[in-house]
Amino acid sequence: MSGLEDLYREIILDHYRSPRNKGELETPPAHRTEGFNPLCGDEVVVYVDVTDGVVSDIKIGGQGCSISQASASMMTAAVKGKSIDDARKVIAAFKQLMMIHETNVGGDGTEAEFDGDGETNGEIDLGDLEALQGVVKFPTRIKCATLSWNTLSQAFDDASV
Ligand code: ZN
Repeated sequence: MSGLEDLYREIILDHYRSPRNKGELETPPAHRTEGFNPLCGDEVVVYVDVTDGVVSDIKIGGQGCSISQASASMMTAAVKGKSIDDARKVIAAFKQLMMIHETNVGGDGTEAEFDGDGETNGEIDLGDLEALQGVVKFPTRIKCATLSWNTLSQAFDDASV
Protein backbone atom coordinates (compact mmCIF):
# COMPACT_ATOMS: atom_id res chain seq x y z
CA MET A 1 0.00 0.00 0.00
CA SER A 2 2.88 2.37 0.68
CA GLY A 3 3.87 2.28 -2.97
CA LEU A 4 0.40 3.42 -3.95
CA GLU A 5 0.44 6.13 -1.33
CA ASP A 6 3.77 7.38 -2.67
CA LEU A 7 2.26 7.51 -6.15
CA TYR A 8 -0.73 9.41 -4.83
CA ARG A 9 1.52 11.83 -2.99
CA GLU A 10 3.44 12.43 -6.22
CA ILE A 11 0.24 13.15 -8.15
CA ILE A 12 -0.94 15.63 -5.53
CA LEU A 13 2.45 17.35 -5.33
CA ASP A 14 2.64 17.53 -9.12
CA HIS A 15 -0.69 19.34 -9.30
CA TYR A 16 0.30 21.62 -6.42
CA ARG A 17 3.63 22.57 -7.99
CA SER A 18 2.31 22.83 -11.54
CA PRO A 19 -1.35 23.76 -11.23
CA ARG A 20 -3.41 23.25 -14.36
CA ASN A 21 -5.66 26.02 -15.62
CA LYS A 22 -4.48 28.60 -13.10
CA GLY A 23 -5.54 32.17 -13.80
CA GLU A 24 -8.59 34.21 -14.72
CA LEU A 25 -11.15 34.47 -17.48
CA GLU A 26 -12.87 37.59 -18.67
CA THR A 27 -16.27 38.14 -17.03
CA PRO A 28 -18.59 38.12 -18.78
CA PRO A 29 -18.78 35.82 -20.68
CA ALA A 30 -17.19 33.69 -17.93
CA HIS A 31 -18.91 33.27 -14.56
CA ARG A 32 -16.87 34.04 -11.46
CA THR A 33 -17.65 32.30 -8.17
CA GLU A 34 -15.68 32.44 -4.94
CA GLY A 35 -15.37 29.81 -2.25
CA PHE A 36 -13.81 29.95 1.20
CA ASN A 37 -12.88 27.28 3.70
CA PRO A 38 -12.63 28.97 7.10
CA LEU A 39 -11.28 25.79 8.73
CA CYS A 40 -8.03 26.13 6.83
CA GLY A 41 -8.15 29.59 5.27
CA ASP A 42 -8.33 28.27 1.71
CA GLU A 43 -9.74 30.63 -0.90
CA VAL A 44 -10.70 29.61 -4.40
CA VAL A 45 -12.04 31.61 -7.31
CA VAL A 46 -13.57 29.58 -10.10
CA TYR A 47 -13.94 31.13 -13.55
CA VAL A 48 -16.00 29.00 -15.86
CA ASP A 49 -17.03 29.52 -19.46
CA VAL A 50 -20.00 27.52 -20.65
CA THR A 51 -20.65 27.28 -24.37
CA ASP A 52 -23.47 25.16 -25.78
CA GLY A 53 -23.80 23.24 -22.54
CA VAL A 54 -20.09 22.41 -22.40
CA VAL A 55 -17.42 23.62 -19.99
CA SER A 56 -15.43 25.30 -22.74
CA ASP A 57 -12.91 26.86 -20.39
CA ILE A 58 -12.16 26.96 -16.67
CA LYS A 59 -9.57 28.81 -14.61
CA ILE A 60 -8.76 28.81 -10.93
CA GLY A 61 -7.63 31.74 -8.80
CA GLY A 62 -7.16 32.18 -5.08
CA GLN A 63 -4.75 30.59 -2.67
CA GLY A 64 -4.70 27.86 -0.09
CA CYS A 65 -3.04 24.74 1.21
CA SER A 66 -1.53 22.08 -1.00
CA ILE A 67 -4.61 19.88 -0.81
CA SER A 68 -7.03 22.60 -1.84
CA GLN A 69 -4.75 23.76 -4.66
CA ALA A 70 -4.06 20.27 -5.95
CA SER A 71 -7.73 19.33 -5.79
CA ALA A 72 -8.73 22.46 -7.73
CA SER A 73 -6.10 21.73 -10.37
CA MET A 74 -7.28 18.14 -10.74
CA MET A 75 -10.85 19.33 -10.94
CA THR A 76 -10.16 21.63 -13.87
CA ALA A 77 -8.47 18.80 -15.73
CA ALA A 78 -11.40 16.52 -14.97
CA VAL A 79 -14.23 18.79 -16.12
CA LYS A 80 -12.77 20.92 -18.92
CA GLY A 81 -14.38 20.03 -22.24
CA LYS A 82 -17.12 18.02 -20.58
CA SER A 83 -20.83 18.70 -20.85
CA ILE A 84 -22.43 20.29 -17.81
CA ASP A 85 -24.27 17.03 -17.15
CA ASP A 86 -21.05 15.03 -17.20
CA ALA A 87 -19.23 17.64 -15.14
CA ARG A 88 -21.96 17.48 -12.51
CA LYS A 89 -21.63 13.70 -12.48
CA VAL A 90 -17.90 13.99 -11.84
CA ILE A 91 -18.58 16.47 -9.03
CA ALA A 92 -21.12 14.09 -7.49
CA ALA A 93 -18.78 11.11 -7.80
CA PHE A 94 -15.90 13.00 -6.25
CA LYS A 95 -17.99 14.24 -3.35
CA GLN A 96 -19.25 10.70 -2.84
CA LEU A 97 -15.64 9.51 -2.73
CA MET A 98 -15.05 12.00 0.08
CA MET A 99 -18.27 11.12 1.89
CA ILE A 100 -17.54 7.42 1.84
CA HIS A 101 -14.48 8.15 3.89
CA GLU A 102 -16.18 10.75 6.02
CA THR A 103 -18.68 8.08 6.98
CA ASN A 104 -16.27 5.23 7.47
CA VAL A 105 -13.21 6.86 8.99
CA GLY A 106 -13.24 7.50 12.68
CA GLY A 107 -15.38 5.77 15.22
CA ASP A 108 -13.35 2.72 15.97
CA GLY A 109 -10.57 4.04 13.76
CA THR A 110 -10.78 1.26 11.22
CA GLU A 111 -10.67 2.15 7.60
CA ALA A 112 -13.45 0.87 5.41
CA GLU A 113 -12.60 -1.16 2.38
CA PHE A 114 -13.13 0.80 -0.75
CA ASP A 115 -12.08 -0.17 -4.22
CA GLY A 116 -11.74 3.14 -5.99
CA ASP A 117 -13.65 2.31 -9.12
CA GLY A 118 -16.31 0.12 -7.55
CA GLU A 119 -20.02 0.34 -7.91
CA THR A 120 -20.27 3.48 -5.82
CA ASN A 121 -18.85 5.58 -8.63
CA GLY A 122 -20.99 4.08 -11.34
CA GLU A 123 -19.56 4.73 -14.76
CA ILE A 124 -17.51 7.72 -13.66
CA ASP A 125 -13.77 7.12 -13.82
CA LEU A 126 -12.16 9.50 -11.39
CA GLY A 127 -8.64 8.59 -12.48
CA ASP A 128 -6.03 10.69 -10.71
CA LEU A 129 -8.68 12.13 -8.44
CA GLU A 130 -8.60 8.93 -6.47
CA ALA A 131 -5.21 10.12 -5.26
CA LEU A 132 -7.14 12.43 -2.99
CA GLN A 133 -8.72 9.50 -1.20
CA GLY A 134 -5.72 9.40 1.14
CA VAL A 135 -6.47 12.95 2.26
CA VAL A 136 -9.65 11.85 3.89
CA LYS A 137 -7.88 9.89 6.56
CA PHE A 138 -7.62 13.39 8.01
CA PRO A 139 -11.24 14.51 8.30
CA THR A 140 -10.35 18.16 8.83
CA ARG A 141 -8.83 18.20 5.33
CA ILE A 142 -11.97 17.01 3.56
CA LYS A 143 -13.20 20.57 3.19
CA CYS A 144 -9.84 21.51 1.65
CA ALA A 145 -10.35 18.84 -1.00
CA THR A 146 -14.02 19.58 -1.69
CA LEU A 147 -13.84 23.40 -1.62
CA SER A 148 -13.23 23.94 -5.33
CA TRP A 149 -15.81 21.30 -6.24
CA ASN A 150 -18.52 22.91 -4.14
CA THR A 151 -17.57 26.25 -5.67
CA LEU A 152 -17.83 24.88 -9.21
CA SER A 153 -21.21 23.40 -8.37
CA GLN A 154 -22.25 26.83 -7.07
CA ALA A 155 -20.93 28.41 -10.27
CA PHE A 156 -23.13 26.13 -12.37
CA ASP A 157 -26.11 27.06 -10.23
CA ASP A 158 -25.31 30.76 -10.50
CA ALA A 159 -24.93 30.47 -14.25
CA SER A 160 -28.20 28.53 -14.46
CA VAL A 161 -26.65 25.84 -16.61
ZN1 ZN B 1 -6.74 23.59 3.24
